[in-house]
Amino acid sequence: MQLSGQFSLIRTTAKIAIKVSQKGVDNMEDFPLLIDILPHLSNRIKEYFIGKCRIDLSNQVDNLRIKGLCECGDPDCGSFYLNEYVKNEDKLEGFNFEEIGTIEVYKGKIGFVEIFPSNFGYEIRSTLKKNNISY
Ligand SMILES: [Zn+2]
Repeated sequence: MQLSGQFSLIRTTAKIAIKVSQKGVDNMEDFPLLIDILPHLSNRIKEYFIGKCRIDLSNQVDNLRIKGLCECGDPDCGSFYLNEYVKNEDKLEGFNFEEIGTIEVYKGKIGFVEIFPSNFGYEIRSTLKKNNISY
């Protein structure tokens, strides 16, 4: 009796694990494009990198997908992670993005856009939340 109970528990756990991994894949494809959610900001970022002669980075902008909100909890923080984000401080390039924040590039990929706490940050965060983007 107890043995079969354990077996069914293992089976259930395995099923959950499969579901989670499938969900991970779906989410990856479903991450919304930055240009669809925040077209104005997306173009600003693109222009910014063109201005810096970083065509390798400006070329990425149209394909950037928003992965999640910054988890700091400040309601005025508009920072968010992109699909290509990998935590690797060794290969980090930081750009001061106009006066509104910073852009972090990891191993040549735009990974994180920091929008400093501000009215603009609040607007960005609200827009992301409206589009069901969470942490
Ligand atoms: Zn934050």
